[in-house]
Amino acid sequence: MRTILIALLMTFASKVVALATEAGAQPNHAIINPPECYNNLTENVEFINSASDRQKFAAGMARRDGEGTPTVYRFNYQFAPSELQSFIDLHECAHHQVGDVDQPHPPRNSSEHLMNESIADCIAGLRFRDEYQKSETDFEKLITALRSDMEQIGFPEISVSSRISNITHCYTSYGPADIYIRNVIKQRASN
Ligand SMILES: [Zn+2]
Repeated sequence: MRTILIALLMTFASKVVALATEAGAQPNHAIINPPECYNNLTENVEFINSASDRQKFAAGMARRDGEGTPTVYRFNYQFAPSELQSFIDLHECAHHQVGDVDQPHPPRNSSEHLMNESIADCIAGLRFRDEYQKSETDFEKLITALRSDMEQIGFPEISVSSRISNITHCYTSYGPADIYIRNVIKQRASN
């Protein structure tokens, strides 16, 4: 398992978590219902919509709120197509599912940080496949939206293609998300 995770990390060079839609995109997308989400302590995770006038792209953030409730903040989802909204929800939920939220935040762009992002992307890809997707077309739409958005933000091509390659590999090669999540948690506990 460790070897697989490290191999994934080597191909994952994404620098930021934020996902954006096309610059100047109109905020015309209906906001989808959030997915089911429980953290590693089986607490229910809340999803909260919020808008920002300054940012013209959709993004998510996973953390506990002031009262300690595990929460996913959904920023500007009206700028993203439903496939990308779903993926962001599932990616942020994944940070709760494997317990990242209750760990000290690793330094930005450290290998640990990139590994956490790669794992969250993988889980999101698996859940998108098993819970959201209705046809192959939806995965293609997701990848297209993700690529377009990362390019608009200014990610270098290597980051875009590495990230998509990781997600696609998980999507096409791995079993259900819950087994993957269990393995991640077990492997971390043994470190
Ligand atoms: Zn993340």
